[in-house]
Amino acid sequence: MFVAAPLPSNSSGQVETVALAWVSRLTSARDRRELAQLLLQGVRSWPGVERAELDEQVEVAADAVLPDPEGCQCWEMRSEYGEQSLLRVWAAADVPDTMDFIGHLVRAYQHVLRLIDGAERDPMTGLFNRKSFDETFWRLSTHCLQTTRPIVLDGQAVAQPERRHEVPPSGYWLGVLDVDHFKRVNDEHGHLIGDEVLILLARLMRQVFRRQDRFYRFGGEEFVVLLPSTDATVAESLFQRLRQAVEGHVFPQVGRITVSLGYTQIRPNDTPSAAFDRADRAVYLAKKSGRNRVVCHDTEPSLSAASVLHQSGGVELF
Ligand code: GH3
Ligand code: MG
Ligand code: MG
Repeated sequence: MFVAAPLPSNSSGQVETVALAWVSRLTSARDRRELAQLLLQGVRSWPGVERAELDEQVEVAADAVLPDPEGCQCWEMRSEYGEQSLLRVWAAADVPDTMDFIGHLVRAYQHVLRLIDGAERDPMTGLFNRKSFDETFWRLSTHCLQTTRPIVLDGQAVAQPERRHEVPPSGYWLGVLDVDHFKRVNDEHGHLIGDEVLILLARLMRQVFRRQDRFYRFGGEEFVVLLPSTDATVAESLFQRLRQAVEGHVFPQVGRITVSLGYTQIRPNDTPSAAFDRADRAVYLAKKSGRNRVVCHDTEPSLSAASVLHQSGGVELF
């Protein structure tokens, strides 16, 4: 892994040596959480630093207003996907070496983050990809069942189950979205315009869902959503809001399109493929029932009955 991070020219020898040591630690980080922790450790270890905080994904809006710095130094980092991190450092007033050092670490942090993002994202829409869904799902279900530590989705703590072996009470939901008649969009307007629709769809998803929700492009015109710590009513209303947002949007050249959604609650001992399969069967039913609708697998009698059959036979579909 190569990281281009020139040392500040006016740094003392000591700054260069320590900065290089921390940069080499950053470049070996395997995921975003580890990277963020290393950045903070590096910053906090430097003379004059009283406190340092890293807020990840502060705001997705391009015109977001930064929080009041309140006497701290702020390093703003906006990713190419519209997410913004903010490093806030409270340090003694006159510590130029410290500021050089932090500026240097911030640049190295951003380079490594870009590399990690590249492996986790779908390049066309900027959404997380299927690989990162599987990893998040396993982390989430492992935490649900085995630990009392906060559950972390893609670098962010989202919930704290109360006791060992207890599933959080409000539930975790997985939704699958499939664009209706997308072949027609390609056939009538061409593949490039089809791509544009998918990019705009990803933007609508960013607008509808909350900060703690995660959405993924699974490939083609199929997307997956993970809602952590949400009750059934909120889950239904978020999926309905997305369906309505798409229905109400006028896509350039194409006009109106619709989507069908299916969703299910994540269960103890679920696997990504089992949960996905349930939601996908709900999508199938939504398509069969006329498209442009949301179907909950768990409350749909025909689907839940099929699911019980699968479970009692111990059959895993995929
Ligand atoms: P349905 O309502 O039943 O889902 O109909 P559909 O036409 O959407 O059917 P289907 O899911 O079988 O077709 C999906 C189409 O999406 C087929 C493929 O040409 C197109 N597609 C898949 N990936 C991409 C992509 O990255 N860009 C574009 N433009 N089209 C894609
Ligand atoms: Mg499809
Ligand atoms: Mg489709």
